[in-house]
Amino acid sequence: MRRGEIIAVGSELLLGGRLDTNSLFLTDGLAEAGVEVRYKSVVGDEEADIAAALRMAARRADVVVLTGGLGPTTDDRTRQAVARATGRPLRRRAEALDGMRRQLEAWGRTPTKAQFRQGLIPVGAEVLANSVGSAPGFCLRWKGAVIVALPGVPSEARAMFATAVVPRLQMEVAAHRRVTQHRCIDRRVLHTVGILEAELDHRLKDLVGRGSGIRLGLLASPLGVTVSLTLCGAKTKVMMDELVRRVRRRLSPYIYAEGFATMEEVVGRQLARLGLRLAVAESCTGGLIGHRLTQVPGSSAYLDRVAVCYSNRAKTEWLGVSERLLRKHGAVSAQVAAAMARGARVKSRVDIGLSVTGIAGPDGGTAQKPVGLVYIGLDARRRRGRGSCSVTKVCRFHGPREAIKLRASQTALNLLRQWLIADGKAARS
Ligand code: AMP
Ligand code: MG
Repeated sequence: MRRGEIIAVGSELLLGGRLDTNSLFLTDGLAEAGVEVRYKSVVGDEEADIAAALRMAARRADVVVLTGGLGPTTDDRTRQAVARATGRPLRRRAEALDGMRRQLEAWGRTPTKAQFRQGLIPVGAEVLANSVGSAPGFCLRWKGAVIVALPGVPSEARAMFATAVVPRLQMEVAAHRRVTQHRCIDRRVLHTVGILEAELDHRLKDLVGRGSGIRLGLLASPLGVTVSLTLCGAKTKVMMDELVRRVRRRLSPYIYAEGFATMEEVVGRQLARLGLRLAVAESCTGGLIGHRLTQVPGSSAYLDRVAVCYSNRAKTEWLGVSERLLRKHGAVSAQVAAAMARGARVKSRVDIGLSVTGIAGPDGGTAQKPVGLVYIGLDARRRRGRGSCSVTKVCRFHGPREAIKLRASQTALNLLRQWLIADGKAARS
């Protein structure tokens, strides 16, 4: 494995207001290119500090990725810091300026005096084009290390890294492996929902025992637990395929996606494949399910509408939930969840209605209906014959308001996913 190091630059990342998130996708991308991240650090916008961090990183790593500090403002000092650390002075480079001019022109703007500073690149460095923003990146070799400087804006860093850096690193690592017979790395990620971290660990621990060369990572979040399997070695591909098959067998009802796929993409694909249309009625999730579904390009093919019906009046007026039902059972009940899902489906004349009603907290809970109590409803038109079928699910979530909303949205989408699997099977039989 080649050794990698990430330096996130920006004083805002040290002030508590903003988190370094770029290093997450950079770590994934580097692993894919055969580079294992051994250190990462966050440095403020002090030129001397950035230069010191870079000197240290270049001593111990084969690849150093800097992100941030390439913008046009005076606090953006990464260019100067690289020049200072490597002794390669900055020069105005035509290709950096041209790329920047083209990008700004596409937005109907001309470069400002400050932006011209972005065309300064250390001598001997290769310019990396920015297809999303104005600041060019660069890449140079110094004392045996490859140094890459990327912008801080996450979308720009991500695009530049994927298009300009990963292919270069892959070639570099392949050449290195030919020379040294170096080991390679394989990493797979599986996303689960509805199973606790401790239970996952219990089910998988014999697969990843000591000396197996496999590293198991469990990452819990309100969306579920992500299982990552990392394997270093010569025959990784074959071994990893077999390992993933075993993990899938042990966790099959809980795995909803692999790799970079999200729940909303998975559900969207299922709906599109089955040719079904969906309407959603949300109470305590406040539109979160709608937001997630519409994050997927092309979701209009299967999503008809999303109604946020927070008050009882909204549930009655928009979804046709009867006042009597609301009075008798309360808004947070299985009966109202079922009526909301049915109302969403019938009023919008689609195939499936999905609903959520619950108590997100921190206030509003009672002994009978505590904070975190959530009901999910699904109502679907029968494919054959007349009538409909309805499912409700009761859940008890913990945590702060935002976590409860996320868990509720994830569980609702998972209920839909499971229903679509069963429906798809029934349609084929
Ligand atoms: P910069 O390129 O340093 O001017 O950063 C531009 C924007 O990107 C700022 O709003 C930063 O907060 C954000 N940013 C910079 N570095 C990172 C990072 N490592 N992770 C997430 N956001 C970042
Ligand atoms: Mg900055």
